[in-house]
Amino acid sequence: MSQAQGRVARVLVDTPLSHLDRPFDYAVPEELSGDVVAGCRVKVRFAGRLVDGFVLDLAEQSAHDGTLAPVAKVVSSEPVLTPEIARLARLVADRYAGTVADVLRLAIPPRHARAEVHPPGESTPPRDPGLASWHPYLHGAAFVEALTAGRSPRAVFNPLPRHDPERSVAEAVAAVVRTGRGAVVCVPDVRDVQRWDAVFTEVLGPGVHAVLTAAERPAARYRSFLRVSRGEVRVVLGTRGAAYAPVRDLGLVVVWDDGDDLHAEPRAPYPHTREVLLTRAHDTGAAVLLAGYARTAEAQSLVDQGWCGEVVADQPTRRREWPLVDVTDGTEHGAAPARLPSAVFTAIRAADGPVLVQVPRRGYRSALSCDRCRTPVSCLRCHGPVVQHRADQPLVCRWCASTVADWACRTCGGTRLRSPVVGQLRTAEEFAASFPDRTILTSGGDRVLDRVDREGAPLVLATPGAEPPVDGGYEVVVLLDTWLMLARDDVRVVEESHRRWFNALALAAYGGRAIAVGDGAVLQGLVRADPAGVAARELADRAETHLPPVGRVATVEGPEDVIAHLAGRSWPPFVDVLGPVPTEPGRDRLILRVPRREGAALARALNQLAAERSAAKESPVRIQIDPVAF
Ligand SMILES: [Zn+2]
Ligand SMILES: [Zn+2]
Repeated sequence: MSQAQGRVARVLVDTPLSHLDRPFDYAVPEELSGDVVAGCRVKVRFAGRLVDGFVLDLAEQSAHDGTLAPVAKVVSSEPVLTPEIARLARLVADRYAGTVADVLRLAIPPRHARAEVHPPGESTPPRDPGLASWHPYLHGAAFVEALTAGRSPRAVFNPLPRHDPERSVAEAVAAVVRTGRGAVVCVPDVRDVQRWDAVFTEVLGPGVHAVLTAAERPAARYRSFLRVSRGEVRVVLGTRGAAYAPVRDLGLVVVWDDGDDLHAEPRAPYPHTREVLLTRAHDTGAAVLLAGYARTAEAQSLVDQGWCGEVVADQPTRRREWPLVDVTDGTEHGAAPARLPSAVFTAIRAADGPVLVQVPRRGYRSALSCDRCRTPVSCLRCHGPVVQHRADQPLVCRWCASTVADWACRTCGGTRLRSPVVGQLRTAEEFAASFPDRTILTSGGDRVLDRVDREGAPLVLATPGAEPPVDGGYEVVVLLDTWLMLARDDVRVVEESHRRWFNALALAAYGGRAIAVGDGAVLQGLVRADPAGVAARELADRAETHLPPVGRVATVEGPEDVIAHLAGRSWPPFVDVLGPVPTEPGRDRLILRVPRREGAALARALNQLAAERSAAKESPVRIQIDPVAF
């Protein structure tokens, strides 16, 4: 240990190089000593270049032998990296086999100098909105009373339709803030943020929360970030980047609709909002609320492990509050126009109020399935999805590239494959012709309606996820062609389809009805209004296929020679190596699957791999842990 002259700054350097993913010591020159503070942005010489960095902390001495290079410049003395977020960045980087620099790029918005000029403002206490919206739920009152008492309960929350989950969350947030703690609430997209923002303002009062989304202009976004980092606000509402907001004394983290793909970060190291917030809650001891109309297998797993409790309505209440769902198999079209099943046609004709029709999009890659029972065809070796590139070619696994000879259905023993069917796309024109007295509105693609007016009882055709709410709810909700959604070749297809269906059904009016076109056996979860039951079955399926959250999966993508080399590397014995399989010309993918208890070891092995490649100046490979689709 050498005695450094003056103070030493430990700096997290913004470098893409995995093998240099650790803090580096720099001397603080006398003339900068007043400006360098823990958490501030600096510039330092690194590998011969001037690069950005954050000061992790300051010390009197360095463990480094020899003379330290000086901090070259202080970009700003504003402390933007708090110790908690620095720790979180390390945990998230380790979980996802990434680097701290990559996580910090997601966590801290770019600087906007003028925003720092604003003097810090006063913090505003929230109103006391009460906790009444939690009373309809089993354990609802207990959950919020625990928050009020300063404890940190954890729960999976499945709200009832029309019971304003935004309001329930705002009430829980108010309870936490009144104990002197803060809260972070993440929702999937900017449209959700707008709706939740209005409710938060109404329930908490103005000025209590800040909104953080990537859609804001840089100056506004940085200004909001500073209000949080300076402690002016303790409540943050936003999209996935808000998960890292440096809220002080964090008391509660909330994720709404954690099954939505938008919670999966598309930039390295590809973390998921739910995992980031659970990591944060684990680290800080904050309360947890995973809320949504549907439930993911991941949330169910937390309930099964006893880490989260459940806040749900009892079965009679759910039956009463969710619309009654009739299932029609859609085989009898009768004389109904627009190729609609006659039950659907009749129900729409009979409705006086607004009607919502969810129309699945076409163009998904369809999965192969058994002609008799429609069970998806899966690989005998790894349970991966199976494709057939041409009729005269054998079936081949998309994960491990095994060929499947003499396929027989694991469920019914059938040997005939169902040919992938292209869905019928029913057009707005067809509906207009069939229901000439109704106003037809469409929502989807790049024209998504935020809300529709009840007046004129519109018939709204919406693609999944684009269903607009209507005041008072829809009299009839139709889920068309559910089999088309389920035929998608995607490991999470059952969970994702149910999420889309529950979210659409939640828009029904009290006493409204719903018709789902599909297989009654498959749609029992909707008929029973039982998102927990759907999640439990999904979790059992994941156990069988060793998929997350029961197992942990990593995909490694890169040039085919690199991936071929990695496939032959000696992996720890617990790693199930699947592939390589081509993803695009010249590029291959390897899938690595391990039991959950080995997840950290797998991440370390992949981190090591990335570091070796970076040190050897080899091109990086794309490493994703627990990707939502593969
Ligand atoms: Zn079968
Ligand atoms: Zn396979």
